[in-house]
Amino acid sequence: MNSIACPRCGEDRQLQTHQMAYNTGTSQGSLRGYAIGTSTSTSLSVHDVSGRVSQQTNLAGQTAPPDPPMSIVSLCLLGFLGWFAGTLVFDFIHWLIAGALFFPLSSLVVAFKLAWFLLGLPALAVLSYRWRKNKNESYQQAISDWHRRWVCLRCGTSFYE
Ligand SMILES: [Zn+2]
Repeated sequence: MNSIACPRCGEDRQLQTHQMAYNTGTSQGSLRGYAIGTSTSTSLSVHDVSGRVSQQTNLAGQTAPPDPPMSIVSLCLLGFLGWFAGTLVFDFIHWLIAGALFFPLSSLVVAFKLAWFLLGLPALAVLSYRWRKNKNESYQQAISDWHRRWVCLRCGTSFYE
């Protein structure tokens, strides 16, 4: 069926793609359990907290697909936090300088702070957009590489087709 052989031990039967190895090695199970809590203010209830658990074998861990890039929501949140932290830093510097009465410097800091306040967010948005686009491209590449990867079940060598 295939002319592919393991480059290390020459095995040509017990080979799997990383995708196959990952899928067969990741099993879905279920967990049953109950928790007692109050669902309304008046009654005590029992909640079903059953859920799915997934379990991975070592092989599945080794053949796992690449991690997708950070979600847009987390990136926005992170960007906003960075911007907010930046305004605090400017405030702090301003406070330090104002305390020392360096007035010319102080107004310079105010100008920078204002610029950051107004332009920081758009600048961060543009930067993170480009950063994510880059990440996305390398992720696409990593995923397509992953699809072409095999693992030898005899000696554990992982190789490209
Ligand atoms: Zn091998």
